[in-house]
Amino acid sequence: MTQALLVINSGSSSVKFAAYDVAEPGSALARIANGRIEGIGGKPRLLVWGQGGALLEDRRISISSDPVLGPEEAFEELFDWLGRHAAGRTLGAVGHRVVHGGERFARPALVTPEILAQLDAFTPLAPLHQPHNLSAIRAIASLLPDLPQVACFDTEFHATQPWVAQACALPRAITQAGVKRYGFHGLSYEYIASVLPDYLGPVANGRVVVAHLGNGASLCAMRNRRSIASTMGFSTLDGLMMGTRCGSLDPGVVLHLIGALGMGVQAVEKLLYEQSGLLGVSGISGDMRTVEASDTPEARQAIDLYVYRIAQQLGCLAASLGGLEALVFTAGIGENSASLRRRVCEDAAWLGVALDVDANEAHLPGARCISTPGSRVAVWVIPTNEELMIARHTQAVLQGREAHDWRGGGA
Ligand code: AMP
Repeated sequence: MTQALLVINSGSSSVKFAAYDVAEPGSALARIANGRIEGIGGKPRLLVWGQGGALLEDRRISISSDPVLGPEEAFEELFDWLGRHAAGRTLGAVGHRVVHGGERFARPALVTPEILAQLDAFTPLAPLHQPHNLSAIRAIASLLPDLPQVACFDTEFHATQPWVAQACALPRAITQAGVKRYGFHGLSYEYIASVLPDYLGPVANGRVVVAHLGNGASLCAMRNRRSIASTMGFSTLDGLMMGTRCGSLDPGVVLHLIGALGMGVQAVEKLLYEQSGLLGVSGISGDMRTVEASDTPEARQAIDLYVYRIAQQLGCLAASLGGLEALVFTAGIGENSASLRRRVCEDAAWLGVALDVDANEAHLPGARCISTPGSRVAVWVIPTNEELMIARHTQAVLQGREAHDWRGGGA
């Protein structure tokens, strides 16, 4: 029987998943299906796409007793679907994206109750993601207690940064207790780093900045395909302006909000994580497509500020690298918004970036070069694949372990 593994990226109102066939240890992973359960807590829906992107399922999930679909019911629904459609396969493990691994987790970890408790401690550092990542692990553990689950961390890729890139200029008593710049989006950057040589040749090991521009957004400076600096820091708030997060902010503003305006910590947390960024500045939406489609002055200013921050911090990372040889755009906005890429590249002309305007506008799938042949900096669009990265890590941890039926029990 073919062994399969499942990758889960669990958010506040949706669960993204992908299932892969594992042929033999060390062999390439083939994706069987991917999809999402959306509308958790509201009107839930299951969407599944098969190989080649064909839509296999798009249906409302009926909720019998409780009016709200909880994570356990969501996963029951998913395992039920996979059990019916992934016939002839056994489930070997589930791999999870876990945003924060702190200083303790520098490698993917096979989850135990003790490890889960340790990961709970990082929830205040990533309140938008960590609780949902961990509740997915708990929900699956209660459904399939013997199924191996592997936590893959977004912080891991940045462990190679030099001390100065990770340090905060605070007293040692604070920094020794773990207050440092961790960096995030590591699974995305690790995937991009793994495919860079396919596209950039020898430049892949040079001075490269990858711009992961999605709902969350950050830049990562790489040398020899290892992280040497990132715009995200201690929490997922720092750096670039994001969909609903503020990005870099003078800490004096936080003191002002609490001291002069009398806001509580929870209200400040909500403001900075959920009400700021594109949403806060435009007053319309945290979704770039919606903001780009609007012609209000506030929406235009929101995009101006979004671009300004990327261009400014690109300069900072180029300084960390001592130059720039390649710039890579990835994630929802980076892969799809030609106008955003054009504006960032125009602002980066001083670094030697020369954009091929036609290549940038062409709506082509897959990785593509969008700089002119004479550009001193090669500019690429490379679609990210965090799920595949998690699957690769999970496969490595899985090797040698027992297989389980989709509905639990040994195979
Ligand atoms: P992600 O978190 O990677 O799924 O990216 C989500 C972000 O990508 C949202 O702000 C979307 O509006 C944005 N996005 C997706 N497609 C497009 C597009 N065609 N043009 C502009 N933004 C897009």
